[in-house]
Amino acid sequence: MTTQAQHDTSALMTVAAKPDLVFVRGAGSWLWDERGRRYLDFVQGWAVNSLGHCPPQLTAALATQAATLINPGPAFHNGPALRLARLITDGCALDRVFFANSGAEANEGAIKLARKWGRQHRGGAYKIVTLNDGFHGRTLATMSASGKPGWDRLFAPQVDGFVKVPINDLDAVAAAIDDRTAAVMFEPIQGEAGVIPASDAFLRGVRELTRARGLLLILDEVQTGVGRTGKLFAHQHCAVDPDVMTLGKGLGGGVPLAALVAREDACCFEPGDQGGTFNGNPLATAAGCAVMEAVTAPGFLDQVVAAGTYLQAQLEGISRRFDLGAVRGRGLLLALSLGGKAIGPDIVAAARAEGLLLNAPRPDCLRFMPALNVTAAEIDAMSAILQRVMT
Ligand SMILES: *Cc1c(COP(=O)(O)O)cnc(C)c1O
Repeated sequence: MTTQAQHDTSALMTVAAKPDLVFVRGAGSWLWDERGRRYLDFVQGWAVNSLGHCPPQLTAALATQAATLINPGPAFHNGPALRLARLITDGCALDRVFFANSGAEANEGAIKLARKWGRQHRGGAYKIVTLNDGFHGRTLATMSASGKPGWDRLFAPQVDGFVKVPINDLDAVAAAIDDRTAAVMFEPIQGEAGVIPASDAFLRGVRELTRARGLLLILDEVQTGVGRTGKLFAHQHCAVDPDVMTLGKGLGGGVPLAALVAREDACCFEPGDQGGTFNGNPLATAAGCAVMEAVTAPGFLDQVVAAGTYLQAQLEGISRRFDLGAVRGRGLLLALSLGGKAIGPDIVAAARAEGLLLNAPRPDCLRFMPALNVTAAEIDAMSAILQRVMT
C-alpha cells in the first residue's frame, strides 16, 4: 500500500476524498492504474459505463462520429440526436426528448417543465413533492429537490417549492399535495440513499393519485434507466408510465449525456425556454445510440436479469456467511446491507488494496453496479475478493 502521495493534486479543487491512484486504461470490467495494477470494477464510473470500459461498439461509434462531425451547434439538427431521440421514445410510452449533459441538468429541465406546466394548467402551481433521502443532482434547484440530510442548510437559501415526504408512504404524498402543487418527483430506486426501492404499490399509487389530482409524475431514472434494473426503464417493472422521465448516467456509456423525456401533453417548452451549448451534440448522442442499440438488442436485458440474479445470490451467500443484512435492489443495481455496522468505507478501502473497486453510498451498505455485460466469472472473482477482505 502507498503511504506517501505520489501525485501533485494541488491544482485541483478538492471536492471529494480520492485515493492516490491514477487510472490509465480500461477494458470491460477491468481498469489499470499507471503502475500496471489491475482492478475489477464494480462501480463503473458510478453506473455510467453500461457496456464496461471502452467497449468496441462505443469506441467505434465515437471514432467514426469524431471524424465526421463533432458539433454543428445546438441551433441545428444532427443525425445522431434525431436517431437517439427515436430510440428512446420507441422504448417507452413518452413522446419527446430534450438532451442534456448531466443528470442534474436533465432534472433541472424537468423542474422547469413542471413549473411552466403548472403555470399553464394549474393556475401558477409550482411546488413539487419529492422524497426524503432522494438524490437529483448538485445544481441549486436539484440540491433543493434532493432529500439528502444536511443539504437543506448547505448553500442556503434553497430554491423554494420542494416538499419532502418519506418513501413508500402514499398517505404522506396525498397530504403534501395542495393547489400550489404541480408535480411529484422521485427515483424508482433511490440510488445514492443506499439502493432503497420504491415499492411497486407506491409507484402505482402515486400514478393514480397524480392522475386523479391532475399533477405530473416525474420519475428520475438517471441511475435506474437504460437497462440497469433489467428492464429498459425501471418503471416498466410495474407498468406505470410517468409523464416525465429523466435519464443520465448509463445513457452515454461513460460519455456525458442525459435526457429529459416527456409525454406530448407535458411538452410545454417554447423556443427560448430551454437550451444549452453542448446539448444534443452528435458526438455524445452517437455514443448514446451505440449504448441504446446494444441494450435493446434481443436477449441483452435477459442477460442483465440473469447476471443480477446471480450477483444477488452471491451477495446473499456472503451476507449469511458474515452475518450481514439484506440485499436490496433490482437487476444490476444492488446493495448489501452491512447489518447496521458502519464498516462500508473500510471494506471499500481494503477491497481496493486487493484490486476490487466497490462503493459505499452509506457507511452501512455496499453498492454493486457492474457493467451490464458483466460475466459470471467476473461476479465470482468479485465475490472471492470480497470474502477475502471480509475475513
Ligand atoms: C447521479 C444522479 C443524478 C445526477 O446526475 P449527474 O450526472 O451527476 O448530474 C440525478 N439523479 C439520480 C437518481 C442520480 O443517480
